[in-house]
Amino acid sequence: MSVAPFNRVLIVGIGLIGSSLALAFRKAGLATQIVALDHTPDHVAEALRLGLVDAAGDDPALATGADLVILCVPVGACGKVAAKLAPFLAPGVILTDVGSVKQAVVRDVAPVLPEGVQFIPGHPIAGTEHSGPSAGFAELFEGRHCILTPTETADPVAVARLQAAWEAIGSLVTIMSAEHHDRVLAITSHLPHLIAYTIVGTATDLEEHMQQEVIKYSAGGFRDFTRIAASDPIMWRDVFLNNREAVLEMLGRLHEDLGLLARAIRIGDGATLEEKFTHTRAIRRGIIAAKQA
Ligand code: NAP
Repeated sequence: MSVAPFNRVLIVGIGLIGSSLALAFRKAGLATQIVALDHTPDHVAEALRLGLVDAAGDDPALATGADLVILCVPVGACGKVAAKLAPFLAPGVILTDVGSVKQAVVRDVAPVLPEGVQFIPGHPIAGTEHSGPSAGFAELFEGRHCILTPTETADPVAVARLQAAWEAIGSLVTIMSAEHHDRVLAITSHLPHLIAYTIVGTATDLEEHMQQEVIKYSAGGFRDFTRIAASDPIMWRDVFLNNREAVLEMLGRLHEDLGLLARAIRIGDGATLEEKFTHTRAIRRGIIAAKQA
């Protein structure tokens, strides 16, 4: 579906996702003007130096005249940022976000928005372990899924327009409830990050000589966890604080499964281990077949 370009797109938080969106929107011709708002002066300066946007600053008045506003700040900051923008948002503007948790963003943002603003929460399932304006690239969203979680009162025309914009930058869009999103992402994204942070933390608590060997022999599996555990600490702090119930539920299930595996190892139950590992190998092959590897 082709999409009419937006007149003025405001990206709030010009980090990895914000800068990637600025580049992708420009490449796809989706905006006449792209502006950025960020609270860190160095990020504002870098965004301008890199030519990511047409204008940038830290003034919420940058939202004046915007017909699309995209919040690309950590989940815990979305409510505060939306409240600052609220006086400058015209009726009909589409306001979306890219936060990794959806129910908390809806809880914090929806009440502070003026009537007439089309609030359509979103989450691109795409990213890297890097942060900041220079980390972005236009192709980040190509072939990746993007979940939108509009409320029942959202205007279908606005939802379709936002969906078309994501599709124009290469995303595969799915619509679901915020609650369902948070449960699914708790297992596919949040728990893996928690495990990676834990394993890398455990390894760094080992005695000195072991720590050196952890680095030397990291290709044995540890290395892949260190990439995930290098992800932005503020972003992930906010994810866990804002998706508490779903993450704790999945963590409970993981504990149970770890207990079963520990028992199988202790009693020499090779059949259970083989069965489990055969099943998980099939999942990996499914991800490769779905081109999400
Ligand atoms: P990032 O690279 O750290 O970018 C966030 C930017 O927002 C930074 O420039 C940050 O500045 C700025 N910022 C933070 N609080 C702000 C505020 N109150 N007002 C204005 N600017 C503010 O982070 P990111 O990886 O792009 O993540 C942004 C959002 O995308 C998060 O909600 C995250 O859950 C979501 N997301 C991330 C990924 C991923 O893989 N990284 C994937 C999908 C979705 P400072 O750093 O100086 O505070």
